[in-house]
Amino acid sequence: MKSIRVAVLALPLFIGLFAFADAAAAAKPAKPAGASRAVKSGKSGKSAKLAFAPNFKAPFPCGQQWTYSHHDGEVRRALDFIRTDGGSTGGTPNLASAAGTVHNLYQEGGAGNYVQIDHGDGWTTFYFHLSSFSVGDGSYVEQGQEIGITGSTGASSGPHIHYEQLYFGDGQDIQINGGGLGYPGEYYQEYITSDNGCGGTGGKSYVDTFDNATGYNDANMSDAQGTLFKGTNYVYCKVYGAEVRSGDSFNHWWLRTDLDETFPGKNGRNAYVSAYYLSRWGNDEAKDNNGNVIPDCP
Ligand SMILES: [Zn+2]
Repeated sequence: MKSIRVAVLALPLFIGLFAFADAAAAAKPAKPAGASRAVKSGKSGKSAKLAFAPNFKAPFPCGQQWTYSHHDGEVRRALDFIRTDGGSTGGTPNLASAAGTVHNLYQEGGAGNYVQIDHGDGWTTFYFHLSSFSVGDGSYVEQGQEIGITGSTGASSGPHIHYEQLYFGDGQDIQINGGGLGYPGEYYQEYITSDNGCGGTGGKSYVDTFDNATGYNDANMSDAQGTLFKGTNYVYCKVYGAEVRSGDSFNHWWLRTDLDETFPGKNGRNAYVSAYYLSRWGNDEAKDNNGNVIPDCP
């Protein structure tokens, strides 16, 4: 139900961007090479603002190598990416290439499930053909945070990440870590290895929790401080403590975090929530949404 409602709202926006891009392309058939670097001349307000582009990183996890291309009929200045380091393209997380606000959208027969991240100052990025979304619509994400899973929804012949960088809706030549990528017509000519998320996301790990969880003052259940609402949450680190068990499911790890709701007279900061509430991991596992083990608390 949710995706149907979103589709109705999203479609006019998407078509609008599409039409704008096509019209712009027709009016300016040959964008000069290095146009986005004309910033330094500061000739127009719009160009000058390009100087403030976020330092975009690759839209897939740290250390992975992918190849990319811009095929015939591709929209705007998109690049399609597939994985070439032996791992499977389908099922690999898409990461936010810069911090911003996530919009989870859907376009049948086109982008499929797609995420638009609004980075501010007119900059947005697109991630098309996702098999699923990883954070709630409207969530704020840090650079390197997982936003979706690579899939093949919409007009797609196989799993890949269709990625775009736009400035006020106008597709830009893609830059990663401040350097422009090439636009080969086929895969296996140019490659990029990601450093996105290598340093974590500002000391926070992002996790999905399947139910509201009580937060405590320590790694046990003796002094409740408040509640962490279910959904995508950040945690700082983990400590080993009292076992939380339900039937055959158990976990000894406790995750330090800031609670969504604090009980009267209690402290919701740096409270501990059981890793039992993590959505996708097993007994005594404490991993983030990217599958990385959450670091031990100092
Ligand atoms: Zn594409």
